[in-house]
Amino acid sequence: MAEAVYDLAIIGGGINGCGIARDAVGRGYSVYLCEKGDLGGATSSASTKLLHGGLRYLEHYEFRLVKEALIERETLWGIAPHIVRPLRFILPYSKGLRPAWMLRLGLFIYDHLGGRKLLPGTLRVKLDQGIYAQGLRKGLALGFEYSDCWVEDNRLVILNAIDAQERGAVIAARTKCVSAKPHGEGGWTVTTEEVGTGIRRTIRARMVINAGGPWASSIVRDIAGRAPRGRVRQVQGSHIVVPKLYDHDRCFIFQNADGRIVFTIPYEGQYTLIGTTDRDYPGDPAGVKASPEEIEYLCALASSYFDRTVNPADVVWTYSGVRPLYDDGASAAQSATRDYVLELDEQSNAPILSIFGGKITTYRRLAESALERIEQTLGMPARRTALEKGWTGRASLPGGDFKPGEFGMQVARLKRDYPFLSNELATRLIRQYGTRAWLLLSGARESSDLGEVFGADLTQTEVDFQCRHEWAQTADDIVFRRSKLGLRMSKAEIGRLENYLRGAAGELKSA
Ligand SMILES: Cc1cc2nc3c(=O)[nH]c(=O)nc-3n(C[C@H](O)[C@H](O)[C@H](O)COP(=O)(O)OP(=O)(O)OC[C@H]3O[C@@H](n4cnc5c(N)ncnc54)[C@H](O)[C@@H]3O)c2cc1C
Repeated sequence: MAEAVYDLAIIGGGINGCGIARDAVGRGYSVYLCEKGDLGGATSSASTKLLHGGLRYLEHYEFRLVKEALIERETLWGIAPHIVRPLRFILPYSKGLRPAWMLRLGLFIYDHLGGRKLLPGTLRVKLDQGIYAQGLRKGLALGFEYSDCWVEDNRLVILNAIDAQERGAVIAARTKCVSAKPHGEGGWTVTTEEVGTGIRRTIRARMVINAGGPWASSIVRDIAGRAPRGRVRQVQGSHIVVPKLYDHDRCFIFQNADGRIVFTIPYEGQYTLIGTTDRDYPGDPAGVKASPEEIEYLCALASSYFDRTVNPADVVWTYSGVRPLYDDGASAAQSATRDYVLELDEQSNAPILSIFGGKITTYRRLAESALERIEQTLGMPARRTALEKGWTGRASLPGGDFKPGEFGMQVARLKRDYPFLSNELATRLIRQYGTRAWLLLSGARESSDLGEVFGADLTQTEVDFQCRHEWAQTADDIVFRRSKLGLRMSKAEIGRLENYLRGAAGELKSA
């Protein structure tokens, strides 16, 4: 049988691969994407989950990146109001660290660089008064409160993948690209292997997009057989989760004497998320995990700002990821550029575009830059109905077809249509699925119609929905990536879910 020929074969289903797939298929290119693990299962589910300009990058004069990211905050809030929400951050002034005038100037630039229409601006606040005094140690008097946004990072990947698939892309999860070889007639022959079964398939593509994140250099070298020009600098970042340290909804951004900053963020109702670290990581990105030194570092920093000591023994969960930064030769890991670099190699009439660096926040703009290079290389797509540049910032992501600010209204609507849902469950379902919650619940008249409850409020209906429509296969996919319900489930409950998934394998494969 003749191999299928696509315009693009995208290697890597993190935020960048899925973001490029969505934009490209919308513009009319035919797209095949393979991801060797779970979609978004690597760096794109291990971030701090902030849509932010990156206040600290101003110190490195990365004005272009900061401006683009600041604008993206509200663009992404507009297309995905279910998984994005605004946050307020408190930045305390600490004697001996950055002076108050510098913090004020940085935040003035942050507020005025662009894109802020809905998010409130910066306020000067007294940290010894009102809610601001809650939890913090005595002696901190002055602070500044400013805006950024939160995003469910893994959901953002999945929603981009769903949208790309609904528009015609082939999304092959748990499928590893094992080789890419130039084809005699131009373009590539790409061989993939299905993880688990070992089944190999080949497809042809006019162009390869290397969106392998931390694996990007090795994809160029070992899979495409080319000498990489750009290099990934692998920088590890870890987070810890502890029982909540204070009651209000503000986040803190703390400065450390080493020049780094660390966030504390109210997390999943009962917890505080603390992160992150920055250190060079030479190992296999798949094996990354928070080290005891990183956990100590984060606990010590939090303890120096809060009125209680945070101990490694308080930590209930950790996660860690490897930033696939572009190696710009900076000495300290924390100073390496967070901007993205696209490298096109057109040797032998077989073009490959490699993606280095980037942020969750700027994935959509990165995809637009990639599409410019794709258009220059392949020409305009043949498909007539194609959308134009910028469409991804206007068309809502699946489930996000309502306005920012209407979240509560959607929860009320869902409760009206499914009165047996508790407030908590209705809120979680809208947060996780937006208006796709109606698809998930369709036909249910009472709670028992949702089937077995595995723990927390996770039902069989939801598990089946994720397996059929969101490429979920394992318990981790469901309770630690597409949700964080695992924090509220016992080992035995997660084990029961695993058994169910093993039994249901095959029947529940993604539609
Ligand atoms: C600790 C930390 C905190 C961060 N915080 C933020 C933040 O708050 N805000 C923000 O905007 N950004 C943040 N970032 C940055 C952001 O997470 C990354 O820039 C982004 O997730 C990178 O996405 P990616 O698609 O390039 O890489 P990945 O998500 O790693 O995706 C690459 C994918 O390629 C797949 N792959 C590799 N080889 C193959 C192969 N041979 N075949 C098939 N598939 C393959 C991998 O399995 C992987 O899933 C943070 C990063 C870290 C590590």
